[in-house]
Amino acid sequence: MSKIAKGGCLCGAVRFEAKGEPFGANHCHCLSCRKHTGAPVVTLSGWKADQITFSGKARKIYNSSEGVGRAFCPECGTPLTWEGISSSGIGAIVEIHISTFDDQTLFLPTSHMHDGERIPWFDVADNLPRYTVWDDGNPPAHIGPKK
Ligand SMILES: [Zn+2]
Ligand SMILES: [Zn+2]
Repeated sequence: MSKIAKGGCLCGAVRFEAKGEPFGANHCHCLSCRKHTGAPVVTLSGWKADQITFSGKARKIYNSSEGVGRAFCPECGTPLTWEGISSSGIGAIVEIHISTFDDQTLFLPTSHMHDGERIPWFDVADNLPRYTVWDDGNPPAHIGPKK
């Protein structure tokens, strides 16, 4: 039987189920994610679009750039997803903000993306690899916080 992780927005109007395992979970420091959420950093888990089922009220999607949708609850405004086509060739993906899962301990982030855009006063004390932009197969810019 395949694993199902459930979640939704703050008011409960938008709900979702994620089936199976995500292909990844990462912190993102990019300005667009930060603007979308109002947070200094976001943590997302990535799924193929067909692993995700939404229910309840239809999520609203804001297109932050060509081909990129950022969904939120039309009632309470909770940021829910980054949606688009994967640059690694696996098709349509839905990245779900980890803090919208009912159990927020299910998925462990394994790296920092867009560390080059990180707010200088914000950092976390971990030893994960950090990529200036994205994990494109090249080694990370560095491991752990900058000295
Ligand atoms: Zn809501
Ligand atoms: Zn981002």
